[in-house]
Amino acid sequence: MAGTGSPSKVRCCIVGGGPAGMMLALQLARGGVDVLVLEKHADFLRDFRGDTVHPSTLRVLDSLGLMPQFERLPQRRETQLYARFADGMLAFADFSGLRPFPFLALVPQWDLLDLLASEGRKLSNFALRMRCEATGFVFENGDLSGPVVGVQARDADGNSFEIRADLVVAADGRHSILRRDALLPLRDLGAPMDVLWFRLPLAPGDPDVTHGVAGRGKFLAMIHRGDYWQAGLVVAKGRADALLADGGAPFRKLLVEADPPLAERAAALDIAKISTLTVSVDRLERWYRPGLLAIGDAAHAMSPIGGVGINLAIQDAVAAANLIGPALLGTQPITDAQLARVQRRREWPTRVVQTLQTQIQRRVIAPVLAQDGSAPAAPKWLRALLRWHAVRAIPAHVVGLGPRHDVAHFGAMERT
Ligand SMILES: Cc1cc2nc3c(=O)[nH]c(=O)nc-3n(C[C@H](O)[C@H](O)[C@H](O)COP(=O)(O)OP(=O)(O)OC[C@H]3O[C@@H](n4cnc5c(N)ncnc54)[C@H](O)[C@@H]3O)c2cc1C
Repeated sequence: MAGTGSPSKVRCCIVGGGPAGMMLALQLARGGVDVLVLEKHADFLRDFRGDTVHPSTLRVLDSLGLMPQFERLPQRRETQLYARFADGMLAFADFSGLRPFPFLALVPQWDLLDLLASEGRKLSNFALRMRCEATGFVFENGDLSGPVVGVQARDADGNSFEIRADLVVAADGRHSILRRDALLPLRDLGAPMDVLWFRLPLAPGDPDVTHGVAGRGKFLAMIHRGDYWQAGLVVAKGRADALLADGGAPFRKLLVEADPPLAERAAALDIAKISTLTVSVDRLERWYRPGLLAIGDAAHAMSPIGGVGINLAIQDAVAAANLIGPALLGTQPITDAQLARVQRRREWPTRVVQTLQTQIQRRVIAPVLAQDGSAPAAPKWLRALLRWHAVRAIPAHVVGLGPRHDVAHFGAMERT
């Protein structure tokens, strides 16, 4: 089996140990496929990643029999999401009607990835090489337009080597070098904003729920993490550097404008610990070529609206495992037709969600970011509309389950 240090041959090589890559690897390995994951980092410990585990992902974990392990992870559960206006809080999404998981779980992404990795390591046909970076492809006969037959990789000691694989999966995220080198056509849908992520301590009198603060010239997302706030200040694209200049004085001012009770915490904030998410929304027009499939952010970077990135990445992995897992059990090459089935299954929900996100970006976020001033009151019609549970259930359904969701079949544990 590959993955113990030496260059080798494997049935499926997955580049990227994020949610997409780890979920696909676990499912394939459980189904009996020899799989190797290359992850360039030494661990999964990265702050400010997608930590929003939606009901669609909970259903996947349940189908894999992993809910008992998941429930032991540190987490906070939200049944409603709120927007805060000048005249108070307004619940706009209500998950309580969703079954069997009527909530959204906030879980550190590294804990989720560690869980998937530790389940994978129980299997002899699963290998995960940390600090091992894919640097390019191996093409059949060295022909750049021919089938992909493996990857070139570099380990932590700087040793370069080849790994041959019948299928390479690019799960290497939004800055994927594999999708670039594969020359897969990319459609950029644009985004008018970037997000500055940071932690804030809780203080007496704070609301006890995850909420967004509506403002003019900014939005503030306040994700309640149990013992701290994960805060995201949404600002007009390209503005982040100027806000962080001068010791972060412009940033602190904007934060206090967004939420005046944060004044003391804004003054104490360590600007060096702020992480800028350059928002991009894009989608490959073709997710595959012979010997290669792209999934997750490598196939489609999502806007942070709705916190759907991790959940869509996991759905891609589940669809890929269900659709091509059986063929990977054999010895035949994986055909373009088989890879195309994965794109067909996942492209439509991706398009629907990206269309909703870009509409919200265009009609709500861009106009608000172009304004200046303090938070507005909630429009009366919105307050009246959101009194209805059925109305609040719609965004929860769209965000929580998405337009199409699958559970694991290939590699699922037998349920009792
Ligand atoms: C700051 C920030 C905040 C976010 N907040 C949210 C949120 O609240 N909710 C949400 O749902 N989503 C959020 N997202 C998006 C979410 O994290 C992604 O959509 C999701 O992680 C995508 O999963 P993935 O597996 O496709 O890619 P990634 O999670 O990006 O994983 C790709 C992996 O590939 C590895 N890699 C890259 N190149 C190579 C290489 N050449 N060789 C080997 N390994 C490589 C990377 O180290 C990484 O571990 C956020 C993203 C960022 C950056």
